[in-house]
Order: sequence, then C-alpha cells, then structure tokens
Amino acid sequence: MSKGLYWFEHDLRICDNVALQQLATQVDQLHCIYIFDSEDFSTSSHKGSAQFKQRRIGQHRYRFIRQALDDLQQQLLAAGQQLHIYIGAPLTIIQQLNEQHEFTHIGKHFHTGVHERKTIDSLSQLYSDKTLINTNSYTLYDIDDLPMSIENLPDVFSPFRRKVEKFCEARLPVASILSELPPALLPEQFVDTNLPPIRECDKVLINHNETVKRLLGGEQKALQQMHYYTFDTQALSEYKITRNGLEGWEFSSKLSPWLAAGCISPRQVAAAITDYEAHHGANDSTYWLFFELLWREFFQWQQLKHGKALYHRNGIQQKSPTGFHQKRRFEDWVNGETDYPIINACMRQLKYTGFMSNRGRQLVASCFIHELGLDWQYGAAYFEEALIDFDPASNWGNWQYLAGVGSDPRGCRQFNLNKQTQTYDPQGEFIAYWADYAPRS
Ligand SMILES: Cc1cc2nc3c(=O)[nH]c(=O)nc-3n(C[C@H](O)[C@H](O)[C@H](O)COP(=O)(O)OP(=O)(O)OC[C@H]3O[C@@H](n4cnc5c(N)ncnc54)[C@H](O)[C@@H]3O)c2cc1C
Repeated sequence: MSKGLYWFEHDLRICDNVALQQLATQVDQLHCIYIFDSEDFSTSSHKGSAQFKQRRIGQHRYRFIRQALDDLQQQLLAAGQQLHIYIGAPLTIIQQLNEQHEFTHIGKHFHTGVHERKTIDSLSQLYSDKTLINTNSYTLYDIDDLPMSIENLPDVFSPFRRKVEKFCEARLPVASILSELPPALLPEQFVDTNLPPIRECDKVLINHNETVKRLLGGEQKALQQMHYYTFDTQALSEYKITRNGLEGWEFSSKLSPWLAAGCISPRQVAAAITDYEAHHGANDSTYWLFFELLWREFFQWQQLKHGKALYHRNGIQQKSPTGFHQKRRFEDWVNGETDYPIINACMRQLKYTGFMSNRGRQLVASCFIHELGLDWQYGAAYFEEALIDFDPASNWGNWQYLAGVGSDPRGCRQFNLNKQTQTYDPQGEFIAYWADYAPRS
C-alpha cells in the first residue's frame, strides 16, 4: 500500500497543480497538509525579514491565506479528501507525521526561493528512501524550457524577454484532478487550534473599498477574477492605458495575491489571455499583461541564479548603496507621516488594505531610498510583512532594481514626486481619500 504526503505551500489550488497531479497518480492513499511556520509570525526570529524586525507574514496576507485554505478544504472535502493545517517547525511536523504514517512518497511543488529550495534539499536528505516529487507550475516555463542555462541568464530584463519570447512557449495548464484523487489517509480533518486569530479589515473599508471587498483568498475567487478582468468586463483590452492607476479595482488585473499564494498559476493566466485574444482580438494591452507576467518570470529565475544575493544589501551587482536605517524616519514612512502627501496616501493604503498599485510601489520605494535616505532592505522587509501579494523574487528583485543594486542597467532611479502626483492624481482624490480615512480599530 503506497501512502503519499502532499505538502501545499505556494500552490493553493487543484487545477494546474502538476506536483499534486503526479503524486495522486502514484499512491493508494493521500494525506494533504499545509504548515504555517511559527517563526513567520515572530519579529525576533533570525530568519529572512525578521532580521529587520518585521514579521514574515502580516495580518492581511494571513487572512488571505486562511481564506484560500478554506476554499481548498471545501474542494477537497467534496472529493472525499481533506486538508490538515498545522503550525510549528515544518520539518519537525513532517518528521512526526512520517513516524505515524510511514509515507512512501512525498510531494511538494518546485519554487525558486532560497528557503523553499533548502527545504527540498533537507527533505531529500532526510527521506532518501522515499519517492520525492518536486515539480513546477509556479512559473510560465520549466527550467529545461529556458533557452539558456541558469548561470547564463541575463541579469537585465529586456534580453531575457527577447530570448524567451523567441524560443519558448508558456506551458499549457493541466486540468483539475479532483475526480482522480486517491482516498484520504485519515477519516477526519485536523486544524491546529494554536493558529493565530484572523483579523478582519476595518468595517468602513469592507463596505466602501473595492479592493478590500474583492480581494478574498481562494482558487474559486482567483478564477472568477481572471474571468471578470477578461471576458466579463473586457478591462484587459485597455490594460496598457489604465495600468498606472492608484486606487480602484479595474485599472489592473489584481491577480498578484492569487498568483503569489498559488490560487492560480501564471500558465492559467497566459492561457486565458490567449483565449481572450481569440474571441476579442489582440492589441497592445492584451500583450502587455503577458509582458508583465514575463517580469514576474524574470525575477523568479533571477532568484534561482543569484540565491541569497537577491536579498543582500549590495545586491546582485555587489554595489554599496548609500542609505542607512533611521528608526523614526522609517516609522514615519510606514505610517504615512512623511512630508510627501502621495507617499502618505500609498503607505496608508498598504497598511490598511495589504495592497498597493505598481505605480505606488515605485514611488514609495524611490522616496524611501532617495528623499528619506533609508536602507532599502528595511523597506523590502516591511513590504514582505505588509503585502498580501508578497512574493520573494518579485519583491526583493524590484526593491534591488530601484535601489540601484539589482537588475536595472540604468542605475538608481528617482521619481519626481510632484510631477508623479500631477500625472497620476491630478485632482488629489487619492490623497484626499486616504487622508480622510481614519481606522476605527
Ligand atoms: C518595490 C516593489 C515591490 C513589489 N513587490 C511585489 C511582490 O511582493 N509581489 C508581486 O507579485 N509583485 C510585486 N511587485 C510588482 C507589482 O507592483 C505587482 O505585481 C502589481 O502591482 C500587482 O498588481 P496586479 O496584479 O494588478 O498587476 P498587473 O499590472 O495586472 O500585472 C499582472 C501580473 O504581472 C506581474 N507583475 C506586474 N508587474 C510586475 C513587476 N514589476 N515585477 C514582477 N511581477 C510583476 C504580477 O504577477 C501581476 O499580478 C513589486 C513592485 C515594486 C516596484
């Protein structure tokens, strides 16, 4: 009797989940789990962004992941399976489960993150007697599809994009395997009672802010949003014109939180764009959404190439940045209390909703580095805690880029905040919205 353990991580979905599909076809019984690493909730851990006194997961992402786990649970229960949710030290939990059940197979999806690859290395050393499945569907392409070795990946986006567009096709998503899942190993689901409580957003925002209303975790919501942005509203056909908006639901796809949690895969998004183009025609905007997915792709493979250097102060360029940490200034930035109204609005939006537009992220990072002269790593670490859509490669890669130590060939970019305000918030509505908002709790 073969017994499989499937460890969900950044792949909280059933459709296009290649690793889950492979494991399901090889075992007689299946135990599905998700683990919250207790260190991710602590500011005194020495791991990752906790070095900068930030948690690795904040309230907004935690809530979103819990919603996504509920959705996964409902889907699994309908198929006679179930999800077991734990909190603690992940490898210790795996060891205890293995002592109880003696798995023959372990499955977990492939991810280019440093921490994620270290975990896979540990699993393959600890459980060399088992079949380990570690297949990718977090990126558009597989590693073997890339037209160059990882060592030879360009460190600049444009040459990377040109090569992959010329030589690669995004992988097609695989269908749902719900009906083929092997039976559950245990009769009842387990949810650890030590999980931290979920904090809801402020009621005012739940009622009046479109992003807060609609940004709910789960595979079903992700598929709905993809359909909404493409076929329902045809907003995709205007994406290139609207994508620099600051507030609202329709100016960009808003798919990033679902992509980061793996409620949807980039392959599903690429396939939806192609399908949409076949029905409504291709234009610059439909192409541009794919172009942005290529930015995501670029940073994922950069992360595999450079490993820890993607998080280092001197970056992949090994250049010394000028900023340094100043607690008071940093807190003013976090709380939206700087001398720059546009920055304050963006930072309050992030603090209270867990989301910020791409334009906003560029402005607040530029201000952090240039106007405030702060150490970029503290900004990146705060984003790691605060963003619902936090993705290690996209976050730290973009911060390095703006700090002039990453993959920007032009060096450090500074935005003119007055000009940006006039262009993107000419009537001051966005600034007024967040200046007027006062949290009730
Ligand atoms: C300082 C900084 C930090 C960032 N941190 C993150 C992060 O932690 N997680 C994250 O997903 N994105 C990050 N981004 C990229 C980008 O801001 C968000 O992906 C985007 O705002 C999400 O909104 P959307 O889904 O509506 O994007 P859309 O404009 O609709 O784009 C579609 C998708 O393309 C990808 N994408 C778009 N722009 C970028 C980019 N510059 N880099 C990488 N992928 C991109 C995302 O997956 C996004 O969902 C960061 C950007 C900056 C400047």
